[in-house]
Amino acid sequence: MELLALSLDPVSRLPARVGDDGLDEDEERPRRQHPAGDEEIELEHALEPETARDPLVRQRRVDVAVGHDVLPGAESRRDHAFGQLRARRRKERRLRPRAELDAFEQQRPNLLAELRPARLPRRNDVAPFRTKRFDEQVRLRRLARAVDAFEGEEHRGRTIRRVRAVVTGGAGFIGSNVVDALLARDDEVHVLDDLSRGKRDNVADGARLHEGDIRSDAASLFAEVRPDVCFHLAAQIDVRVSVERPELDADVNVVGTLHVLEAARELGTKLVFSSTGGAIYGECDGPAPEDHPRAPLAPYGVSKLAAEEYIAAYNRLWGSSHVSLRYGNVYGPRQDPHGEAGVVAIFMNALRDGKTPRIYGDGSQTRDYVFVGDVVAATLAAAGHDGGVFNVGTGNETSVVELYERIERASAIAREPEHAEPRAGELQRSVLDPSLASRELGWKPARSLDEGLAATWAWISSG
Ligand code: NAD
Repeated sequence: MELLALSLDPVSRLPARVGDDGLDEDEERPRRQHPAGDEEIELEHALEPETARDPLVRQRRVDVAVGHDVLPGAESRRDHAFGQLRARRRKERRLRPRAELDAFEQQRPNLLAELRPARLPRRNDVAPFRTKRFDEQVRLRRLARAVDAFEGEEHRGRTIRRVRAVVTGGAGFIGSNVVDALLARDDEVHVLDDLSRGKRDNVADGARLHEGDIRSDAASLFAEVRPDVCFHLAAQIDVRVSVERPELDADVNVVGTLHVLEAARELGTKLVFSSTGGAIYGECDGPAPEDHPRAPLAPYGVSKLAAEEYIAAYNRLWGSSHVSLRYGNVYGPRQDPHGEAGVVAIFMNALRDGKTPRIYGDGSQTRDYVFVGDVVAATLAAAGHDGGVFNVGTGNETSVVELYERIERASAIAREPEHAEPRAGELQRSVLDPSLASRELGWKPARSLDEGLAATWAWISSG
């Protein structure tokens, strides 16, 4: 009697690429959010494995079942089978909307002629791009291991091929932490930053700083560097500036992102875009999933959402696999007090400098505070994923009053804060549901709030 173990998870877990099959993101999401789970079935069966699979396939309503084998070379056969499955799935997706595709193919030259008359794609242009992209996808997928910018050990090992990366906004708070993590993996890192907010000192020696603006310098930098991946973090991040100067906000966050997208398209570079959860969803009743209604209160949220939509449209139009990440309120070393989660740095700076911290309103407003090391890990993991939009938060909300008490404990300084009038237009609740990132990116925040605050205090108090 032969004991046969059949594993179905490769079939159910094939990463679904948004827009790949003609479905829009909303249609796609339910399928992605309900994977079949890790089902492992053991059968006592006297039949040949091939025969045994058929009823199982029917019963489980899957296309193919892949068997675990104990013979030498089983791993490579499994990989081969997996590759075939992926290819077949892609083919099916391509075939399913064939009628629509045919119509699209016929319209495409005209459509593209309207968009870019000078660069009509020909098959000869597209073929090498697709081959290159496939190679890079394989390579980038290996970035998907979670890292923590401050643990330092896991991502030091040279287990991956070297990646050439551009980090826009790499002299800023989150970007410079991304740079550190890439350097720790021995990647080649180029930073594009106009230093409007970022600091030269934030850029570690191993990275090359190109001082420039994403709106005017992305194309030339990409042509020079030919990056495999771009982590796009440069942005106008000040919500108040976006209210006072919405045209500036849109110019940097929308038009600037389009310049980066175009540069990436020319070279087949993979893009990971730093978007925002809090500013896009608006008021939340509980942890907001990615399909939560979008109700930005400020132009900043609108410009980030618009950039996300362009990225999704490029994925559909050009077959790219860019990823947008909606960060929660990020805090940690190198945090600027003016950022979205600036309150952590504001409170800590005040305590360090002997000043009295100020809480607006009664302090019951809640936010989802996520440590920068965890955000870096999610950002690198996204480089290996095939498109999509993901929340990067903890799922926990913390009120301003509670945050202040925790900061007092982390700093071992107790001081009564002062209260001021509530600020107009401030959200009461903002919290993100990170379960999609957990399922698809294999990412989970590793630091508790208290651990993250302790690390942040260590950095701020030493400055
Ligand atoms: P940051 O201001 O520290 O970093 C942004 C960097 O972009 C700065 O170094 C700045 O000099 C640079 N920059 C701005 N405009 C530029 C331009 N036109 N050309 C080139 N460089 C330019 O901000 P951060 O907190 O590190 O945020 C990084 C990204 O994450 C941003 O896109 C932001 O919208 C997003 N984000 C941040 C948070 C947060 O809590 N900090 C939350 C959600 C999303």
